[in-house]
Amino acid sequence: MAGKRIFSFGGGKAEGSQELKNLLGGKGAGLAEMSRIGIPVPPGFTITTDVCAAFYAAGRKLPKDVLPGVRAALAQVERLTGRGFGDPANPLLVSVRSGARVSMPGMMDTVLNLGLNDATVEGLAAQSSSERFAWDSYRRFVAMFGDVVLGMKPEKKEDRDPFEVILEAKKRARGVKFDSELPADALRELVAEFKAEVKRRTGAPFPEEPVAQLTAAIEAVFRSWDNDRALAYRKLNGIPAEWGTAVTVQSMVFGNMGEDSGTGVAFTRDPATGEDVFYGEFLVNAQGEDVVAGIRTPQPIHEMEARWPDIARQLEDARGKLERHYRDMQDIEFTVERGRLYLLQCRSGKRTGLAAVRIAVDMVDEKIISKDEAILRVEPEALNHLLRPIFDGRSKHDAMAKGGFVAKGLPAGPGAASGRVVFFAQDAEAWRARGERVVLARHETSPEDIRGMNAAEGFLTAFGGMTSHAALVARQMGKVAIVGCGALSFDYHAKTMTVARAEGDLTIREGDWISIDGTAGEVILGELHTSPSEVVQVLVEKNRDPADAPLYRKFAKLLSWADDVRRLGVRANADQPDQAAASIAFGAEGIGLCRTEHMFFGEGKIGPMREMIVAETEEERRAALAKLLPLQREDFAGIFRAMGPRSVTIRTLDPPLHEFLPQTERGLEELARATGRTLEQIRARVEELHETNPMLGDRGCRLGISYPEITEMQARAIFEAACDVAAEGVDVRPEVMIPLVGHAKELANQEKLVREVAAAVFAERGRKVKYLVGTMIEVPRGAITAAEVAKHAEFFSFGTNDLTQMTFGVSRDDIGAVLNAYVAREIWSVDPFVSIDRDGVGTLLRIAVEGGRRTRPNLKLGICGEHGGDPSSVAFCHEIGLDYVSCSPYRLPIARLAAAQAALRERAAAPARKAPRSARAGAKPRKAAASARRTKAVVAAHPARAARASVEVRRPARKAARKPERRPRA
Ligand code: PEP
Ligand code: MG
Repeated sequence: MAGKRIFSFGGGKAEGSQELKNLLGGKGAGLAEMSRIGIPVPPGFTITTDVCAAFYAAGRKLPKDVLPGVRAALAQVERLTGRGFGDPANPLLVSVRSGARVSMPGMMDTVLNLGLNDATVEGLAAQSSSERFAWDSYRRFVAMFGDVVLGMKPEKKEDRDPFEVILEAKKRARGVKFDSELPADALRELVAEFKAEVKRRTGAPFPEEPVAQLTAAIEAVFRSWDNDRALAYRKLNGIPAEWGTAVTVQSMVFGNMGEDSGTGVAFTRDPATGEDVFYGEFLVNAQGEDVVAGIRTPQPIHEMEARWPDIARQLEDARGKLERHYRDMQDIEFTVERGRLYLLQCRSGKRTGLAAVRIAVDMVDEKIISKDEAILRVEPEALNHLLRPIFDGRSKHDAMAKGGFVAKGLPAGPGAASGRVVFFAQDAEAWRARGERVVLARHETSPEDIRGMNAAEGFLTAFGGMTSHAALVARQMGKVAIVGCGALSFDYHAKTMTVARAEGDLTIREGDWISIDGTAGEVILGELHTSPSEVVQVLVEKNRDPADAPLYRKFAKLLSWADDVRRLGVRANADQPDQAAASIAFGAEGIGLCRTEHMFFGEGKIGPMREMIVAETEEERRAALAKLLPLQREDFAGIFRAMGPRSVTIRTLDPPLHEFLPQTERGLEELARATGRTLEQIRARVEELHETNPMLGDRGCRLGISYPEITEMQARAIFEAACDVAAEGVDVRPEVMIPLVGHAKELANQEKLVREVAAAVFAERGRKVKYLVGTMIEVPRGAITAAEVAKHAEFFSFGTNDLTQMTFGVSRDDIGAVLNAYVAREIWSVDPFVSIDRDGVGTLLRIAVEGGRRTRPNLKLGICGEHGGDPSSVAFCHEIGLDYVSCSPYRLPIARLAAAQAALRERAAAPARKAPRSARAGAKPRKAAASARRTKAVVAAHPARAARASVEVRRPARKAARKPERRPRA
């Protein structure tokens, strides 16, 4: 015996509800729910997804009991609207819409204005006092019905819609350009011509009888569940065939029935700022499509009060009810028909990052949602909006509209920057020193450019992927950057860059203004105004009082809630004291990666470094290293002081040595002079160091094995600095990290060296400092043999940039062409250098975690590749039980929020395993259960996240209760 098959709604009641989404579809359930809570919606009814299943089971035929049910439900709609279906004097028109349990935008069919025929059209003309409107509705209905129900929609894309062809001919005959210019009599002719075409094509006259129209439309909407578009969409999104669609039949309401009618859209809070104001617009005597078409300018919603005070009050009332009920900001569509308000739709409103944070925090303060829900409501990436400068208001939009778009690249450093173009790092420094704002544009950047990069507002490269040098540095420095912008070509001699564009080449010269949108990856010509980030002003620049920074306070509040629930620790990738300070401000609990190579480009260091590289004997090398030692020691001491009692992981030298040598002829000559060698000798050394594939060459621990004195010097600088700073009373926590280990013996070799130096320094200084020696796992062999490697490592830090590069066998610096083609063909769903490839690289991580902890159960595990700041990768790190993630300072807030979300989702997926925090904190059990239920609901509202959560159940984190790396923050 079939269950209830038709659910009515309207008049402040509904037989269905939100709970019945699977049966009524999203749309049907939403309308029922609105009706239940007293929101005025046009009355109607929903035929269930079960009927859809029965329809297909019966060979695409409606079950017998459906039509009597439809008639009864229709009678109720007639009662509620006071109109008659097919009544020529006072016709009821309906829409017939599809609606699956998940939204499938535009994939299935809809018929509007159903119930019109040659008699009822006159009634509609009288009701609306507009013959033109009535005939326009009618001709639209005949075409839609013909296409959707009678199958006249062209099947091949080369064919034209028959109704379009007739319409075009009519416009030509009447000498008009737009549909809206056709008068009533032309529309009346169109209806006749459309019907003749129906007869010609189908052999039967257009159905005039409204119940026959309705039956046919219901069947057509059920059929549309199986059309090609819907099938493809279902396949792509894993929507099972048996879910089916529901069909909702709802009375039509019209906003163009005179001066007491209208239509509008509104958000229950400002979607740009999150401010708690009703935000929207409306048009008097208009239909929804007039708003969308932008033919007339709508009025702001606050002006409704003066015009229709009663409607304004009802809308305000609906606004409050909807927010309290759905417990989120809503985006609503409404129509006023002859002084009566109807809401047609409501859904969670899209919002900016600023608004997301503000709304989530405000709603907790207003006791609408819990803190856990607030954490889950904000997409971690949305925090970028609060951390970066943004272009002022419409300035970017206007510049783009005026043809200012230059080219697009990879969005490596989010935010907005404007400056004058320079092509050399030295020029960036010099121009900056004289007060100019500059954007550094280069084919690619190298460590040599680091100071110029720091001086620039942002940078732009033609080459490189999301983990190329420019991209890493951008994120670490908090700079705006676009990389891999392949349309650019450079002429460094002429100091120009050229962009090939369809409308002709565009040449940009040194000193020209450009703007870069590092969030969208867009390069724009000219100077655009930017607004600074309030959060950065408070935390990093320290030029704004938190008391004057309301947005900052909300941001801080949300993150403090996130910190309370996350299990993963967060560290920063930082190698300068100012970056260390910024990291602490953004919540770092330590430094997870200090790339020492960046230090060698600081004042006075590149000289001795190059001397060391061109040295021909160990003695010469040691002499040069002796010059570097005090400088490195000071760098480390600066970082230890800034980080106080937090752990600092310092990596020994990693890049191949040629990266430190000058790139220009002039530079080579200077080096020859400075080191007292001939130019030929220098050239010979450069030649000797040249490698065809330097990323797989003499770098990482291989350098320290070939030249042990380099590791010795670095270890000495670390331990001397640690002793010095410990003597100042700081509880220093150095962790020495050996890069690029693929074989346990490599690490054994370097570990021994480091420990010997430590012992020597401690003996010399008469002081001991606790330290760890560990390794990066960034070579596949290192991951596979992790159990062996762990014999010599007290910690592993996953270098997923190199690990991704080596696992995929693609170059991280040169991925552009492959990336675009692979993402376009969906071979890769995302850039694997941005989001961890769970199946491949992720499997290596799991193997290493398991092997490492088998050998050493207390092995500390972290990640320091760029993935450490990517929300989906952070969730994965949580899932496999890492202790911390380390990322660039400006991504720390994102990582903190992502880590909290991962913890909450794990909890929602398995509430029995771990009681909600509110329960642990002694809250009333019922309240705690409700909170867990709600968290579960929020998770369920995002199927992709829910899928991840269910993966977490199957593969629980190896040791959920592992002691997190958490120490009090300063
Ligand atoms: C890595 O390879 O993931 C890493 C952090 O090291 P780098 O990017 O400096 O090679
Ligand atoms: Mg690496």
